Amino acid sequence: MAPKFSRARVMVTGGSGFIGSHLCERLLANGDDVLCVDNFYTGRRQNIEHLLSNSRFEVLRHDITHPLYVEVDEIYNLACPASPIHYQFDPVQTLKTSVHGSINMLGLAKRIKAKIFQASTSEVYGDPTVHPQPESYWGNVNPLGRRACYDEGKRAAETLFFDYHRQHAVRIKIARIFNTYGPRMLPNDGRVVSNFIVQALKGEDITIYGDGMQTRAFCYVDDLLDGWQRLMDHTPDDFTGPVNIGNPVETPVRHLAEKVIEMVGGRSKLVFQALPVDDPMQRCPDISLAREKLKWEPKVALEAGLSRTIAYFDGILKSNKEVGRVGR
Ligand code: NAD
Ligand code: UDP
Ligand code: UDP
Repeated sequence: MAPKFSRARVMVTGGSGFIGSHLCERLLANGDDVLCVDNFYTGRRQNIEHLLSNSRFEVLRHDITHPLYVEVDEIYNLACPASPIHYQFDPVQTLKTSVHGSINMLGLAKRIKAKIFQASTSEVYGDPTVHPQPESYWGNVNPLGRRACYDEGKRAAETLFFDYHRQHAVRIKIARIFNTYGPRMLPNDGRVVSNFIVQALKGEDITIYGDGMQTRAFCYVDDLLDGWQRLMDHTPDDFTGPVNIGNPVETPVRHLAEKVIEMVGGRSKLVFQALPVDDPMQRCPDISLAREKLKWEPKVALEAGLSRTIAYFDGILKSNKEVGRVGR
């Protein structure tokens, strides 16, 4: 892909998190100035440590539920805990981050006429009744359940993005992200890829919730960011999205567990635990729109992505940092 035309001052909220840190790295490599804004709720200094010596990189500890006055050209709004155990720990703060945080970032974008990207989610489809999910599907979300603080927050954020676009001509781009994995996921945040890899590396049992036949579609972080870059830098302003960015290879959770055990080569056994309430049974993106408008599709096969992720977690475990697994 050709680089974008000019360098920019880019702000990344949630920039010290898993995906945000990869994005900051990429933007710097592109020649952009990067302002990473994070309250370090689930973000970590280690994720961005290697960028601190770059004079084009700045970090600001800030919670986006409070107003922020800075001058930049583009904003990527990623701030929001993404894993169920973290977004359910303080559900009111999760909703505030999506709602008040988006209002602040959109107010900022409006004032400085910046283009703004929203990291939305496949969770806006809830437990879907349409499969695979196209962007035109309105979703099946329980507005009262434990996942609602995240799902409804992200849905409200999309509404706000569209209202600022229609009412104030703010330039918006919305990507609906499906389960993404890769190095720098938190080892103990309870997500399935990190849980299974850490369990297998430690020779512990692999915890499958339910019968393991529920599906997810796993996208490697580099593929995800290729899609974002195409959306942000290579589509006209009148293409706002939402656009699904995910890997359309649907994988039952049990198959993921078996693959991880096979790749790690350990003796872990599968153990079955209760399925969390409102856990979606099937999830897989329809990426026709991304293929057509972004000329994008994922390139990294599950095995290749898992092998890089396993190497990352193996390194963390060997460096003797304590890695506890957190369940729900
Ligand atoms: P993450 O938890 O690693 O990153 C989120 C970052 O946001 C963290 O650095 C955290 O400290 C920061 N943050 C949280 N609340 C904040 C606040 N109020 N103010 C400032 N910073 C705040 O998660 P991630 O997997 O990197 O996800 C990044 C974004 O992508 C999130 O918005 C998430 O909802 C979205 N997303 C991720 C996935 C996935 O599979 N990883 C799927 C769909 C959507
Ligand atoms: N805001 C901000 N930075 C800015 C401009 C606005 O954080 O540079 C916040 C501010 O808190 C404001 C919100 O964004 O309440 C929404 O801004 P908008 O201009 O839409 O509305 P208003 O200022 O009328 O509330
Ligand atoms: N899951 C599991 N074992 C684990 C962690 C998760 O079986 O140790 C299941 C979980 O119930 C869900 C799927 O894996 O069906 C994906 O979970 P994750 O939290 O990673 O993502 P999300 O549910 O938000 O898509």
